[in-house]
Amino acid sequence: MEVQLLEATENPEEIICKGARNDYSEAFVGDQSFEETMATVDGEDIEEKKETLIGHLLSHGHYGPFEHANAVFAVKGISRSCMAQITRHRHVSFDVRSMRYVSFDEVDPADVREGEMVVTPPSATDPDWVGRNQKTGQVDEETVAEREEVFRESVARSVEEYQRLLDLGMPPEDARFVLPIGTEVNMVMSMNARMLMHVADMRAAADAQWEIREMTERVLDLAAEWCPITFEYYDEHMRNRKNRLAP
Ligand SMILES: Cc1cc2nc3c(=O)[nH]c(=O)nc-3n(C[C@H](O)[C@H](O)[C@H](O)COP(=O)(O)OP(=O)(O)OC[C@H]3O[C@@H](n4cnc5c(N)ncnc54)[C@H](O)[C@@H]3O)c2cc1C
Repeated sequence: MEVQLLEATENPEEIICKGARNDYSEAFVGDQSFEETMATVDGEDIEEKKETLIGHLLSHGHYGPFEHANAVFAVKGISRSCMAQITRHRHVSFDVRSMRYVSFDEVDPADVREGEMVVTPPSATDPDWVGRNQKTGQVDEETVAEREEVFRESVARSVEEYQRLLDLGMPPEDARFVLPIGTEVNMVMSMNARMLMHVADMRAAADAQWEIREMTERVLDLAAEWCPITFEYYDEHMRNRKNRLAP
C-alpha cells in the first residue's frame, strides 16, 4: 500500500489556535496578527505559545478547534475489506475507484497469483505471523506453504472467471461479484485533525485489523509532519487510550 498527503490546510496549528483563542478573546481574531492573538498565552516565542495552547486544548478535551484543519490523503492498493472498514467513519469524505467503470480486463491471472491486484495477507505467507482471532498460534512452514497455495490459486481463479464473464458480455458491475474482498482499490479521503485522532484511536489500536492499522500508521506519520505539535502530543499522551470525542 501507499499513502500520500495530497493537500492540507496551510499553517494548520495557527488556524487551530485562532479558533480556540476566538472563544476567549474580546478582540476579533480577524482583525489581529497571529502574534496579537497569542499575546497572553504562556511561552517565550510563538512556537512555545502554540505548544502551550494546543497541549491545553487536548488535555482538556477541547477538540472543536481541531476541526478547522483539514487534510486530503491518497491511498493506493488497499483491499476492499480495508476500504469497508475505513468508510464506516462518517466524518471522513471519500472517493473510491469504481469497479463499474474501471475493469480488470488487462490483468494477467498469472500475475495475480504472484500478488498483483489482490492484497496478500501476511498469514498466507509468514509462518511467524499470529493474527487476531486466530485459532492456532504459530504454524509450521508446510502448513503456511499450503495456505499460500490455496490463497494464490483461489484469487487467480477468481480473476480468470471474472474475465471470462466479461468476455461473455457481462457488465463489469455484475462480473465483479466473483472478485475477492482482497481486491485492491485506490481512494482519496479527507478529514479534519479531530477526526484523524478519532480514526487513529480506533484504527491504530492493538485490536484493529492489521491492514487498516498499517494504513492508519502511515496516515499518522504524514499527520505528524503536517500538524507536528498536535500529533506529537497525541502520540505521547493520547494514543492507545481509546480517547473519547469530547465537546
Ligand atoms: C476493532 C473494531 C472492530 C469493529 N467491528 C465491527 C463489526 O464487527 N461490525 C460492525 O458493523 N462494525 C464494526 N466496527 C465499526 C464500528 O462499530 C464503527 O461503526 C466504526 O468504527 C465507526 O466509528 P464511530 O462509531 O466512532 O463513528 P464515526 O463515524 O467515526 O463518527 C465519529 C463519532 O461521531 C459520533 N457519531 C457519528 N454519527 C453518529 C450518530 N449517528 N449518532 C450518534 N453519534 C454519532 C460518535 O461519537 C462517533 O464516535 C469495528 C470497529 C473497530 C475499531
